[in-house]
Amino acid sequence: MLRLGESVQEFLAREGMSRRDFLKFCSVMACAGCSEAFLRSPSPTAAELVLDVLSVDYHETIMAPSGFQAEKSKEDAIAAGGYVLVVEGSISTAGVGEYCCVAGKSSRYILEEAAKNAVAVIAIGNCATFGGVPAANPNPTRAVGVWDIVKDKPVVNIPGCPINPANLTATVVHFLTYGSLPAMDQLNRPLFAFGRRIHDNCERRGHFDAGEFVLEWGDDGHRAGWCLYKMGCKGPTSYHNCPTIRFNDGVNWPIGAGHPCIGCSEPGFWDWEVYQPVTLNEVTPPTTYPSVEKPVREISPTSIAISGTAVGAVAGAAGAFAYSALTKRSSHTKPEVEEIESEESAEH
Ligand code: SF4
Repeated sequence: MLRLGESVQEFLAREGMSRRDFLKFCSVMACAGCSEAFLRSPSPTAAELVLDVLSVDYHETIMAPSGFQAEKSKEDAIAAGGYVLVVEGSISTAGVGEYCCVAGKSSRYILEEAAKNAVAVIAIGNCATFGGVPAANPNPTRAVGVWDIVKDKPVVNIPGCPINPANLTATVVHFLTYGSLPAMDQLNRPLFAFGRRIHDNCERRGHFDAGEFVLEWGDDGHRAGWCLYKMGCKGPTSYHNCPTIRFNDGVNWPIGAGHPCIGCSEPGFWDWEVYQPVTLNEVTPPTTYPSVEKPVREISPTSIAISGTAVGAVAGAAGAFAYSALTKRSSHTKPEVEEIESEESAEH
């Protein structure tokens, strides 16, 4: 524990942690989830965007330069102006930069410096939009989102933990195509991505309406894909397009994989009780709804007889066609083309 008046550096030295150990610890703890998500953007791909469409002048994770050269890239881009600034990560406002600094500059200073010549700012991830996990109670670094600092520029919030890369690329492509930002809600989230509740498009919604809930991890309802409301799902109060575009090129999404939504597109979600059901404002929790009939699995003998007859009829038709084709081929000497023409004219 830090002693009164002791610096972090003195504390680490007293604990026997070398500078290299400290840097290794920081690199393990660092989160670049939204950058990682962006790099996996399927359409357009990050490579297409970066190499064919955009000039990405500074990105700590994917840029080639490092050290002083990286700083120079940033300074040149700021001096040129007219760029869209994309920010990942929260901004700590406690102290004078000791909680987050790059090249000796605090995260707040870097943001204000980089935003001054931008035409717009896109904050990506719940950290950059609403403070994210660093802002969770008691928020010791007084972490905030970009729009708490930048007040004189349009700020687009694309929350998520991590973001869905499609929402970032769609916002960038919208800006490049129309020269304007997409319509946004009161939290500055693009409506095309955050205009509908997860609950409204969820594939398990039918089970919610039928009163079919997972009550325990791995129970029969969980195995059958029933609604996760009683396991704490925040879908009824969260706005995001996860159910429709999903992640990893549309492969799956958290609820599809059997985990309740944690509400990562909403402010303050880290302070919510993850596995407690949310309070519903408008509807009575549908345990009061009539139950749905269980589907009958057996196939009746009548339907087997009918389908058997149908298969026989199809097989008979196929046999007749095959026979007819063979007959024509053996009994006519005209070229195939002419024969086809004559058949077509006969049909007409
Ligand atoms: S409560 Fe969750 S799992 Fe159930 S339908 Fe709504 S979003 Fe889907």
